[in-house]
Amino acid sequence: MSFTELGLTDEIVRAVTEQGYSAPTPIQRQAIPAVLQGGDLLAGAQTGTGKTAGFTLPILQRLVKSPVKQVGRSRAIRALILTPTRELAAQVEESVRTYGKYLKLRSAVIFGGVGIHPQIKLLQEGVDILVATPGRLLDHMQQGTIDLRHIEILVLDEADRMLDMGFIRDIRRVLAALPPQRQNLLFSATFSDEIKALADGLLNSPATIEV
Ligand code: AMP
Repeated sequence: MSFTELGLTDEIVRAVTEQGYSAPTPIQRQAIPAVLQGGDLLAGAQTGTGKTAGFTLPILQRLVKSPVKQVGRSRAIRALILTPTRELAAQVEESVRTYGKYLKLRSAVIFGGVGIHPQIKLLQEGVDILVATPGRLLDHMQQGTIDLRHIEILVLDEADRMLDMGFIRDIRRVLAALPPQRQNLLFSATFSDEIKALADGLLNSPATIEV
């Protein structure tokens, strides 16, 4: 099974091939077609399994195929990826850039502990894919410096770690600000009752995968 056979376009396959990936990992084989179909996904996956490409590759493809949304003079955020830590957020955004290098999509990462003004400027310039940690995302929401009304795809990456770090209230406030009609992907290494409750409330008839 190749990346092309999973339904990815040439520009994306070229970028992953340049990374030296010869074949999709097990999670990618399952997640990529499921996400391309547009439905919700519940994925049990540890780090190191290739889960990041498992969601970023099909998200890139879905966004290239859906029309850019213009809000005022800039483009609206269409995919939002939440991660527990700034390190992970930065890594995920780096992956988005790498895999999307032959596509005309813009991404940005926002997290706490650094100045908010450069982030505001980035957001104003227009972003298709935003990777964020929950706390700083809320700061932007409260300051009115972010528009989440055009989100088509939401990812909760390492959802169990986000809950362990006490982000559940922040996550719920973010969810409440998103348009109801969207695709939701939840990745978690473990499944406590709290994660199950979050997944139950968030996901509509999700495809489920476990590796
Ligand atoms: P992740 O689980 O997303 O943190 O990915 C773990 C590592 O696997 C990263 O360094 C990726 O660059 C790498 N990787 C992801 N997909 C593949 C693949 N299909 N073949 C080889 N390496 C991969």
